[in-house]
Amino acid sequence: MKVVYSARYHIDIGPHVFPTRKYPLVHARLVENGVIESSDVIEPAPASWDDLSRVHTPEYLSKMREGTLSATEAAQLELPWSAGLVDAFRIMVGGTVHAARIATGVEPSSLKSQLETSELRVESSEFRVACHIGGGLHHAFPNHGEGFCPFNDVAVAVRDLQSRGLERAAIVDLDVHHGNGTAFIFGPLPQIFTFSMHQQHNYPMWKPKGSLDVGLPDGAGDSRYLRELQQALPVVMASDPQCVFYLAGADPYEDDQLGGLRLTRAGLRQRDRMVIETVRAAGVPLVIMLAGGYARHVEDTVAIHVDTIQEAQRAATKHEGTKT
Ligand SMILES: [Zn+2]
Repeated sequence: MKVVYSARYHIDIGPHVFPTRKYPLVHARLVENGVIESSDVIEPAPASWDDLSRVHTPEYLSKMREGTLSATEAAQLELPWSAGLVDAFRIMVGGTVHAARIATGVEPSSLKSQLETSELRVESSEFRVACHIGGGLHHAFPNHGEGFCPFNDVAVAVRDLQSRGLERAAIVDLDVHHGNGTAFIFGPLPQIFTFSMHQQHNYPMWKPKGSLDVGLPDGAGDSRYLRELQQALPVVMASDPQCVFYLAGADPYEDDQLGGLRLTRAGLRQRDRMVIETVRAAGVPLVIMLAGGYARHVEDTVAIHVDTIQEAQRAATKHEGTKT
């Protein structure tokens, strides 16, 4: 299984609830534990400004490029602007684009890659899954960034695949926060099915309607959460997606500082397994991104993200084992 990651995701944003060090920590833990090998890791190239313009307005992009956000826009983004920050997030968008191309078997033409072209020609019986140790920037709108999300990586990746012939995709957004930017970008059109399950009484205040929104009460817990997920996934898959993007946010966790759904680590792992198994059984390519995670102890966030990728690896290996 290929994993997309760049050490450049770790940036200095001062004292902040968003731990960008989680990215190198997840990467290191996966290699230490033997879940992945160094040769499985692909360094993405930054998304170009043209790639970003498939989703974002020219006005917003020039403000980001030149560092001319207004005070209000900077406050809405909740990240300190710097050229380094813009670079890091452009690479992160490139990472999701790259992971989506790997999962769907599209040749990543201009991207830095250790892949041989032949490896991209996957057999149809193979479970096509690619993980991105990053991404899930679902709060970014076309004309502004917000909630730690400067650019909408999933939307850019969907537009990239659409430019290569993809017609239908589904986004399974299980971050604790509603995927407002993504829902706004794709609207309720059936071709790009946006599913968000989140804590209803939490940021963002305005939740534009997606294809399927499940707003859960505070403190929902594992069993309620998993029950709702089990009911929702068949609805998502009924949209007949050619690719599924899974935002495996770690912030529904019970000790998260920005989330209040009170899921246990075991519950989150079951969540991951449910999504991965559903998509695998349907024979649809899967792209997994980390999204949020703000546990009081960063190690908890790291462990939850590692669990997700371990579940993906397990499913990929199991599938290989059953291939005849
Ligand atoms: Zn979140």
